[in-house]
Amino acid sequence: MRSCDGCTECCTGALEVKVFDQLVGKDNPCSYMCDTGCSINDDPKRPKACAQYQCFWTLSSDVPDWMKPSLSGVILDEENGTFRASCTKEVSGYVFLYLLYLANEFDTSLTIWHINNPHIERNLGAVIAMKELKVFGERP
Ligand code: SF4
Ligand code: SF4
Repeated sequence: MRSCDGCTECCTGALEVKVFDQLVGKDNPCSYMCDTGCSINDDPKRPKACAQYQCFWTLSSDVPDWMKPSLSGVILDEENGTFRASCTKEVSGYVFLYLLYLANEFDTSLTIWHINNPHIERNLGAVIAMKELKVFGERP
């Protein structure tokens, strides 16, 4: 399994979790992020959901290094054989092409949405033609 190694993309609103009295989620990034990752990483009271969450990039070594969420702006999750791509930054065309390749390779559906990233719509033209692809603007 890969290490997050400084990435905090899931803490910017993709992960919905209560951290002490703060509700982290869309439009509400976690205040415990720091330059090296999570500033309360070693705190035994850190929520279990934080410790347990692993995006698909950390789980699958088949996903290229450059798809690391902090580099690509995409957090990939796999659930019940379907993929979800949560975009946290402006996403490059080649990253979208990789998402298409992934959905094709696994012969599965793919949901793409953005989290705090209104720029995603600019690149959606490249991907909406794909069968089984669900594209949302903002995360519902
Ligand atoms: S998005 Fe993935 S790589 Fe980045 S901090 Fe979260 S689990 Fe780690
Ligand atoms: S507590 Fe740490 S791991 Fe959990 S959301 Fe905040 S920064 Fe991320």
